[in-house]
Amino acid sequence: MPNIADNLNHIHQRIHQITKNVGRDPNDILLLAVSKGQSTTAIRQAYDAGQRHFGENYLQEALEKQQQLSELSDIIWHFIGPVQSNKTRKVAESFDWVHTVDRYKVAERLSTQRQHDKSPLNVCLQVNVSGEKSKSGLPMDDVDALAQAVKKLPNLALRGLMTIPKSHQTVEAQHRSFAAVSDLFTKLRNNSPELATFDTLSMGMSADLDIAIAEGATIIRVGTAIFGPRQYTNTHQTSNNT
Ligand SMILES: *Cc1c(COP(=O)(O)O)cnc(C)c1O
Repeated sequence: MPNIADNLNHIHQRIHQITKNVGRDPNDILLLAVSKGQSTTAIRQAYDAGQRHFGENYLQEALEKQQQLSELSDIIWHFIGPVQSNKTRKVAESFDWVHTVDRYKVAERLSTQRQHDKSPLNVCLQVNVSGEKSKSGLPMDDVDALAQAVKKLPNLALRGLMTIPKSHQTVEAQHRSFAAVSDLFTKLRNNSPELATFDTLSMGMSADLDIAIAEGATIIRVGTAIFGPRQYTNTHQTSNNT
C-alpha cells in the first residue's frame, strides 16, 4: 500500500522546490488529487492528510464515491473526463468544476442545468495542443471564439484553460506544448479584462508536473504519484488520456 500522506507531502515539497527554481509562488499552485480508479478508503486517507480537491473522470464511478463520502462535505469535486452531452445534468449538479469543456452545446447545457441557487459552475476549456485526432479538446485557433461565447452563460464561471499534451514527447517538446497553451491563456486574459475569474491553467500530471509548473500551470492534476497504480475491476478501462 502506498503511503498517501507521505506522497502528498512529497509532492508539496516538489511544488515548493520547482516554484522556487522558476521564481513562482507555491501558493499559486493547486494540487488536484485525481482519484479515478482509486477506492474511497484511499480518498479518505488523502482527505485526512489535508487534501480537499479531488478529480474524477467517469460520472457513474464519481457519483457512487460522492455518495459514500457525503459526510466529507468540504471536498471540492472536479470533473476531468470527457463530458457526454446527454450526461451534463449530473455533472452540472454534482461537481464544483469541469475542466473538459470543448463544445458550446455542452457549456450551454451545463449552464442551464446548474442549480440556480448554487454558485456558478467553474469551467475550463480543454485545448488540444498537440493536434491529435483522437484526443478531446479544441484546436488552439478555436479557443477564443468559444471563450467569448461561454463567458456569457449565466451559471458558469469561465476559469481558464486545460490541456493534456501528447505523451512520450521529448522534454523540449513538452515545454513547447505547455508554453503554447500558457501563451494563449495570457493573451485571452489580457484581451478580456471583464473576465475577472479567468485565472486557471490546468496542466501537468504525475509525469510532467515539473515542466507544467515551469510553464505557468496553476492546477496540476496528479493521480498515480499520490495514490499509486489505479485499480479497475470491472466496467471501464483506465483513461487513454494518459
Ligand atoms: C488520469 C488523469 C490524470 C492523472 O494522471 P496521473 O498520470 O495518474 O497523474 C490527470 N488528468 C487527467 C485528465 C486524467 O485523465
